[in-house]
Amino acid sequence: MKKQYDIIIAGGGLSGLTASILFSKDFDVLFIDPDAYPRHKMCGEYLSNEVIDFLKDLDIDLNRESSMNLEQLKFTAAGHKEIECSLPQGGKGISRYHLDELLYNKAIANAGFLQEKVIDSLYENDTFTVTTSSYKLSCKQFIMATGKRSLLDKKLDRDFIRQKSPWLAVKMHYEYNMQDNLVELHNFEGGYAGVSKVENGHVNLCYLASYDSFKQHKNVSDFNKIVLSKNKFLDSFFKNARPVWEQPITISQISFEKKEPVENSILMMGDTAGLIHPLCGNGMAMAIHSAKIAFEELQPYLKQELSREQALANYSKRWKKTFNRRLKIGRVLQGILLNKTYTKLGFWFLRRFPFLLSIIIKSTHGKPI
Ligand SMILES: Cc1cc2nc3c(=O)[nH]c(=O)nc-3n(C[C@H](O)[C@H](O)[C@H](O)COP(=O)(O)OP(=O)(O)OC[C@H]3O[C@@H](n4cnc5c(N)ncnc54)[C@H](O)[C@@H]3O)c2cc1C
Repeated sequence: MKKQYDIIIAGGGLSGLTASILFSKDFDVLFIDPDAYPRHKMCGEYLSNEVIDFLKDLDIDLNRESSMNLEQLKFTAAGHKEIECSLPQGGKGISRYHLDELLYNKAIANAGFLQEKVIDSLYENDTFTVTTSSYKLSCKQFIMATGKRSLLDKKLDRDFIRQKSPWLAVKMHYEYNMQDNLVELHNFEGGYAGVSKVENGHVNLCYLASYDSFKQHKNVSDFNKIVLSKNKFLDSFFKNARPVWEQPITISQISFEKKEPVENSILMMGDTAGLIHPLCGNGMAMAIHSAKIAFEELQPYLKQELSREQALANYSKRWKKTFNRRLKIGRVLQGILLNKTYTKLGFWFLRRFPFLLSIIIKSTHGKPI
């Protein structure tokens, strides 16, 4: 196996795979991930349309891959009447099982893939040494695209790792009868659940819950019955939906703390640079978009037209300019949704002025890239 690369990317999720496709057209690229493809992944699987044209340019035509055009939002909370509005930009219902495999197949056309975990990285004498369980590799620029939380974050002692991460998430696919074009967002005590269809007609139920609300219940099944089912829409969902997997996917220790897009000269993409609250439905598009920005800003350095420091500073500045506002609005919205009084007030207000919901949604999304 080759030991030297222009770019090594830790993480083959959305941002890592997109960057591998882009950089490998002109540079020597290796991406490293412990997973084999295809695989299911924690996600609400609503992909904002802002990246559809960009993916088409990469020869991934999602209109061919999924007919689930998510255009309507239904929003509910226990004890309140539902609110419906159209989604200003809309999105695609597509499973991570399928989407990541499409990107993976494109990435391996020109980039190398190593199915291992990156366990360490060192920046010395203008070169990165990247260590996996079996190899020591080197590259001009190391990129972290390791998602919400990884052992590399711990190794780097990043600020957010030292803060509390009191969130967990649960995902399951079901057979269930619902409209193809609808995304449902259901509020419950301590969290919220998204429900929508993916390309094969299965319905994805994915929720985020605070650890405090979950810990009083023994398991996901009890939590679903006792807490989520207090919302009558979720109660009806659980009574009528048939799970298609034996077990749900669960993850814990999710942190929404602020992160930096560049640390120790390492470029961070996707959730590794900043995680937007899932209720915004914009994390996947942001991950893909951040890979595009990384490619555009690092190219001049790799072509020896700009110093590494300047290229990384440009990336950091552009990342913040593009995403900081959305992240801030996401934080405010999540705060409102998880507070009973604010939710009550919010519902009262939005039922009278439903057009405001579309405006709020718009503010958590970007223009098509
Ligand atoms: C509950 C929930 C629901 C969500 N719903 C939506 C939604 O509906 N729409 C939306 O747009 N966004 C949603 N998001 C956000 C979205 O899933 C993420 O923003 C997106 O997956 C980020 O992509 P990424 O490339 O940063 O990371 P990921 O796609 O998570 O990929 C990270 C990769 O890094 C690998 N990795 C980790 N550690 C290492 C290591 N040490 N070495 C090598 N590889 C490593 C992992 O195996 C993984 O493959 C949701 C998030 C949550 C928590």
